[in-house]
Amino acid sequence: MVKWLGISLILTVALFVQACAPKSQDDCGFVQNVYGERISWKSDVPVTMYLHESVPDSMIPAIRSAAATWARTAGRDIIKIVEYPREMGPLNPHKDGRNVIYFMNAWEANRASEQGRTSVYWIGDLIKEADIRLNAADFSFYWNGNTLTTAAKSERKSSSPVNIEALVLHEMGHVLGLKHKDGSGSVMATYLSSGDDRVNLAGTDTASLQCEY
Ligand SMILES: [Zn+2]
Repeated sequence: MVKWLGISLILTVALFVQACAPKSQDDCGFVQNVYGERISWKSDVPVTMYLHESVPDSMIPAIRSAAATWARTAGRDIIKIVEYPREMGPLNPHKDGRNVIYFMNAWEANRASEQGRTSVYWIGDLIKEADIRLNAADFSFYWNGNTLTTAAKSERKSSSPVNIEALVLHEMGHVLGLKHKDGSGSVMATYLSSGDDRVNLAGTDTASLQCEY
C-alpha cells in the first residue's frame, strides 16, 4: 500500500512537469532558454537602438547600412537606429530598458581579442533589452576604404583595422537573438579578420532570421 502510493506520487509529479514545460524548438541559429525555446523579440520589432555619444559621427552611415541589411532580409524594418538625440552619460552599459550601442575606450585586458560584445536580457523567450559594446580600446576601424578611428590603447594604435559595418552587422545578429555559427559564410561566425568586408548575409543567416521574424 505504501509502495503504491510512492509510485503514484512520482507519476503525478512527472506528468505535471511535462504538462508545464514548453515544447522544445529547433534552435534555428538562435540562443535558446532552459526550455529549449528560441529567444527573440517575437513581434516586438523594430528594435529601437540608441547611439551613445561615444560613437563617432563618422560611423553612423556604417551602422545604418548594417541595420538596412537585416531589414532587407526581413522584408521590413527590424532594427531602427535613432541617430539623434544621442544617449548621454557615462560609458557604462547596463540594464536600463534602452538598447544602446557604446564605443568603449577601455576593455578588459584578458579579453583584448574581442572586437565587440552584445549583452541580451530576456524574460521567458522574449528579449527585453540588448546593448552592443564596440572595442575601441584594442581595435582600429574602417569603412568604405577610410580608416575612421585608431585603437585607444597606444600599443595597439598600429593594429590592422576592422570593417565597422561587418562588426556591427554581427553584433546586431546577437541583438536579434542569434548565436555564433561557424562555417557556411555566416555573418555570425565567431571571428572577423581585419580587412574582411563581411557585410552581406549568407543564406544560412536568412534562413535563421525567417524562423523568428
Ligand atoms: Zn559574436
